[in-house]
Amino acid sequence: DVLLSDRVNSIKPSPTLAVTNRAAELRAEGKDIIGLGAGEPDFDTPDHIKNAAIEALNNGFTKYTAVDGTPGLKKAIINKFQNENGLSYQANQILVSCGGKQSFFNLSLALLNEGDEVIIPAPYWVSYPDMVLVADGKPVIITTTQEQRFKITPEQLEEAITPRTRLVVLNSPSNPTGVAYSLSELKALGEVLAKYPDVLIATDDMYEHIRFNDEPFVNILNACPNLYDRTIVLNGVSKAFSMTGWRIGYAAGPAKLIGAMKKIQSQSTSNPTSISQVASQAALEGGNDCVKDMVIAFKERHNYVVAALNDIKGVECIPADGTFYAFPSFQHVIDNDDRFNNDIELAEFLLGEAGVALVPGSAFGAAGNMRLSFATSMDVLKDAIARIKKALES
Ligand code: PLP
Repeated sequence: DVLLSDRVNSIKPSPTLAVTNRAAELRAEGKDIIGLGAGEPDFDTPDHIKNAAIEALNNGFTKYTAVDGTPGLKKAIINKFQNENGLSYQANQILVSCGGKQSFFNLSLALLNEGDEVIIPAPYWVSYPDMVLVADGKPVIITTTQEQRFKITPEQLEEAITPRTRLVVLNSPSNPTGVAYSLSELKALGEVLAKYPDVLIATDDMYEHIRFNDEPFVNILNACPNLYDRTIVLNGVSKAFSMTGWRIGYAAGPAKLIGAMKKIQSQSTSNPTSISQVASQAALEGGNDCVKDMVIAFKERHNYVVAALNDIKGVECIPADGTFYAFPSFQHVIDNDDRFNNDIELAEFLLGEAGVALVPGSAFGAAGNMRLSFATSMDVLKDAIARIKKALES
């Protein structure tokens, strides 16, 4: 038997991918399964982006590139930050990676020593705690309630900070809750962070463009420019431009930290894929009209899904500010139904009885809730929610 590392034994495979795989298995057995587990837009990558990649391929742009990204893509990222976020960066402050996931992975490995603490508000993107663990760090989870709209308070943040805290992770709009922090909420968190100059901040802006109101997007640096020297901004093209398979994410921050992340990347994946970088440059330079069309569809589905979920006895779903996720509480349903005892058993029940795949909230550090992805058509969503309602209320 092969003895594996403590490192790999300390983590679990991504539960969202596991749900998607389980749904695929059942489908292969001939079952009629609706998968609402996946975390990716259902739209095709826009044509102008695909065409840029095809052209690059035909032009033989198929070799290694610079580890930290092509000069053209890095320039497009610098311009994006300047024009869309009012943030100024030099080329040595930007690192392009194989997806937003690798950006955070690089960050964890470049920053953390054994036992260093990373504050992660729950509900969280499933991968943060595991990536911290891989880097021998210690995830420190702040739990939130639906009543506080799943957002941490300044008091909670202050309470979680210790002399070992290295990093605080903010993700707004959030996967899985869809809620976003307001400028004043970020300012209040920034006032706490100002008191702890050794603590770094990661703001994961992956869902920046998928928002349902017309207010401008804000992150912690817009609220607190004084945190610039210790904030790392994470973003990417995966969700905004429906490019999950192209694997391009990027990070911007202090040159020293970005340089360290680049060193890690140089010894793992080297550069991100050459033709994906050309496609991502086309995405960032091609304007956001294609994104707007997708957001209109997401918003319409969001409004339907939230109302329809609240219409199921015992289910409570708060409206989201963005993303393509709803994160309803099924706690009352679980408490009052003998057929399942917790959200994991409920997920299995819904897969078996309703043929609908949802991800249990405990995967995101919030037992009792379920994540439903509405990155699928209205017809499918209507069918799925009708099935859930029928299975639970029968
Ligand atoms: N950050 C958040 C909050 C996410 O939800 C995801 C994907 O699910 C990512 C980062 C990583 O995206 P990718 O690695 O596909 O670019």
